[in-house]
Amino acid sequence: MCNETEESADHILVDCAYAKKVMEGIMRWCKVHIHMEDLQAVSDVLNFANQWGTCTKKRKIFMAICYSTLRRIWIARNETVFKKNRLPPEKVIEYVNSVTFLWVKNRGIKMELIRANWSQCPFFF
Ligand SMILES: [Zn+2]
Repeated sequence: MCNETEESADHILVDCAYAKKVMEGIMRWCKVHIHMEDLQAVSDVLNFANQWGTCTKKRKIFMAICYSTLRRIWIARNETVFKKNRLPPEKVIEYVNSVTFLWVKNRGIKMELIRANWSQCPFFF
């Protein structure tokens, strides 16, 4: 994505400036405070999510959001490399927002969620 270093999973998904921009937006949306410098590898993101907060339900949602974010960054990377189509980080954040809404509402956790609240913060319920 940035051509600044050799591509590794940790770089592409977490440490690249592009990935950091996406993750930063996601954390802002979630109102989760973290120093972005503390996230350098996929395992840092997953460990953080896995231990975050005190509410199991919220943690499950946060985990789903983190997985979804990593997945979307990977898709965006492939779009850039194979289709020469570079999605703005804001677009990736939007995708994560709408896809995880459907996941949480209809699949994993099955909760009554209101889209407008979700878009403000996924933990208003
Ligand atoms: Zn990079």
